[in-house]
Amino acid sequence: MTVRADVAPHAIELPRIVRRASRRVDVGGVAVGGGAPIVVQSMTNTDTADVGATVEQAAALAAAGSELVRITVNTPEAAAAVPAIRRRLDDLDCRVPLVGDFHFNGHRLLAQSPECAQALAKYRINPGNVGRGSKRDAQFAALIETAIRHAKPVRIGVNWGSLDPELLARMMDANAHATAPSDAGSVLREALVESALASAREAESLGLAGDRIILSCKVSSVQDLIAVYGELARRCDYPLHLGLTEAGMGSKGIVASSAAMAVLLQQGIGDTIRVSLTPEPGGDRAREVIVAQELLQVMGLRAFTPMVSACPGCGRTTSTTFQDLAARIQAFLRRSMPEWRARYPGVETMHVAVMGCVVNGPGESRLANIGISLPGTGESPVAPVYVDGCKTVTLRGERIAEEFEAIVTEYVEATWGGKAATPRLLPQHGAGAPAQVLRR
Ligand code: SF4
Repeated sequence: MTVRADVAPHAIELPRIVRRASRRVDVGGVAVGGGAPIVVQSMTNTDTADVGATVEQAAALAAAGSELVRITVNTPEAAAAVPAIRRRLDDLDCRVPLVGDFHFNGHRLLAQSPECAQALAKYRINPGNVGRGSKRDAQFAALIETAIRHAKPVRIGVNWGSLDPELLARMMDANAHATAPSDAGSVLREALVESALASAREAESLGLAGDRIILSCKVSSVQDLIAVYGELARRCDYPLHLGLTEAGMGSKGIVASSAAMAVLLQQGIGDTIRVSLTPEPGGDRAREVIVAQELLQVMGLRAFTPMVSACPGCGRTTSTTFQDLAARIQAFLRRSMPEWRARYPGVETMHVAVMGCVVNGPGESRLANIGISLPGTGESPVAPVYVDGCKTVTLRGERIAEEFEAIVTEYVEATWGGKAATPRLLPQHGAGAPAQVLRR
């Protein structure tokens, strides 16, 4: 292998993301699709009949940044609780739209509880769990007619764990008799897509407007998800809800969801996302919201919270000072955001660098809005601070963290508080660099 002399260098531009054209659906005042910012959503795991617990968790998810919150509606008690949950959230001035998740008995619950049907901003309908045999069509029609009556959108949410068995059997049978049969995996993926598209066609034929339909086809394998959504995107213009189902726990769940959704988002596919993480015992449900926001932000698709660039550390940083500072600054930024968001519009695009030593510290810090380069092992115990690319002060001693937080706060006030000119335009590089997003 050698350097190719016959290939001329040219300007290295960022890839362009061309958002897939889709209809815009209004979900309780939140726009999904049609070029609107990609919406972050989440789901509670409380018993919906427990109004207090569900209100508390929905409010926490909304406070973390979830723009839609889905709740299970599986029993008459859960359906009866929904209007009270809505009222209590409104009383807390938490206006996040609630989405009802229905399986098996949704047609009955919605018919029996018009207050529940009205309090929800959207209904999630799983075509595989609407009903079997002769009951299926009538129960699906009842769900759609309720949506029409209450002027609500629906998500037709197919899941391969509950794919309509009759549809799959028909398609497998037809494939078996084909002259050139496909492999079973291909038939399964086509069945997922067909289930979503056929249900959408049926909903429209029942009178539901096309701009009241969102689709999803969730699977638990990264490559299947990419394949299925690529096909779904090609064959319709409904907004698409992305998510890897049963993604798993901890880092595996985050990696799998991010890997699958990043590929699709880069192709311009996806109008709303949910990261489905199995919570660790005692874990924070809001983590799925933070992961979804971070995914969109590191891809440069949206900005939610100032991002910290930190080096991984190495043999040149044998103490934990630098990890402690990086974690502390990220927590400080996230904690400050509820107040900053209102007072300093645009602050969410700030880029902060916390670096471990002189090797890459000054360079990375100069490329951030504000950065600090800590002393590595054996280096003189000082930490130069860079603001808008220029070295300003050098911190030393025990109070570096507090002093750096104060410098960050001053910078935010001066830059986004209307006292100074617009912030320096950063070179487009690194995590969170804005993507060139084009809308069709
Ligand atoms: S900046 Fe320094 S401490 Fe951080 S990874 Fe690079 S060499 Fe190691």
